[in-house]
Amino acid sequence: MMQDPYAPLTVETLPQRLGDLPALRDRLGDAGTWQVREVGDGNLNLVFIVEGEAGGLVVKQALPYVRLVGESWPLPLRRSFFEYHALRRQDARDPGSVPEVIHFDEAQALIVMEYLDGHIILRRSLIEGNRHEGLGEFLGRFCARTLFRGSDLSMSAADRKADLALFAGNVELCDITEALVFTEPYFDAPLNRHTPALDPIVRDLRADAALKIEAQRLKAAFATRAETMLHGDLHTGSVMVQGDRARVIDPEFAMYGPMGFDVGMLMANFLMAHCAQPGHGDRADHQEWILSVVRAIWTNFTAEFTHLWRTERTGMLFPRTLFEDQSQAWAAESARERWLGQVWRDALGIAGLECHRRILGLAHNAEFERIADEGLRAACEAKALVLGRALLMGQGDIAGIEALLGLTRSIS
Ligand code: ADP
Ligand code: MG
Ligand code: MG
Ligand code: MG
Repeated sequence: MMQDPYAPLTVETLPQRLGDLPALRDRLGDAGTWQVREVGDGNLNLVFIVEGEAGGLVVKQALPYVRLVGESWPLPLRRSFFEYHALRRQDARDPGSVPEVIHFDEAQALIVMEYLDGHIILRRSLIEGNRHEGLGEFLGRFCARTLFRGSDLSMSAADRKADLALFAGNVELCDITEALVFTEPYFDAPLNRHTPALDPIVRDLRADAALKIEAQRLKAAFATRAETMLHGDLHTGSVMVQGDRARVIDPEFAMYGPMGFDVGMLMANFLMAHCAQPGHGDRADHQEWILSVVRAIWTNFTAEFTHLWRTERTGMLFPRTLFEDQSQAWAAESARERWLGQVWRDALGIAGLECHRRILGLAHNAEFERIADEGLRAACEAKALVLGRALLMGQGDIAGIEALLGLTRSIS
């Protein structure tokens, strides 16, 4: 199969084409027993669940175009290569946080990975009103460990530069982010759409030059400040949960960028879930629980980042020879606080952009889309747009996590 030219798998061809691979046979049993279904609900790729007599696996295969849009929007297969490399690094940096990779075939752009049986997508679970113990703790630690351990604070300069070069090849997916997150929400781009009742507020946002300057300033940071390997698409649709267990999936947008990008995108998706709750019933308690997850993400991110800064600062930045070894641990601590301050401001700005692009751009969020009453949907979305603007323009004035939660409550 390695020599065959790329061809998309189907439910019918998958057992023939993958049935001889020892890694799969070991996990699944004889290919004659395999049951295959295609479950891809994402925007880009094919995802098959394969179950045999001995167990289950997931086969994810890239298509040469954007699934959501069709063949008119080509997208290179090699995004699968970046997803594979990102999954391996995330698993090394935060063991057990992502599905285990069983097999990778670069020519077929396919990854065979652990099947998260019984797990559902977090976004869906939040819409259903479920709570998950330890979720914010898991996500905060995931961010701290993957972001710290992928940076010059931790890696050898040679390894980090090699990874920077490797992920710099993920040009097309990076380009999607640069367009969809930082630019297209702020003009009448062809694939944009929004709930019609939002017209006046959308007009105001698109006329706001200061806001557009801020968006481009953040885009420059994203494009040039290559601090660490980002997940790149870390929203509640890239997390799967089952009770108090959680895993992160789908890092095909991985690239080097500022730490606040992942943290901000993640927090924004909870803030939007908060704004959307009134569209799904009487949800005051659930809204507060969602805010408690945002608090836990940030506090656990900073706690774990602090722990790693003190115990694993083995990279070229802020070497211990300059600080701890000269009885100046206090100076390393103050540098850490400044670093986290920058992550916080970046995260707030990115969170603001994310709130806008999910309501005005191409890719929308199910928690808003599923609100059938258009007036109610627009009311929920309007709150998220106002919050987004406050985050984008008020980064320096939002002093900490409680200020962010207070601001969110005051708007929604
Ligand atoms: P895309 O890149 O197209 O968004 P995802 O990696 O997000 O693809 O996967 C799409 C869907 O497939 C997910 O929303 C989830 O429902 C399912 N899925 C993906 N990976 C797994 C897995 N390892 N175990 C179980 N289900 C999965
Ligand atoms: Mg996805
Ligand atoms: Mg994806
Ligand atoms: Mg995945």
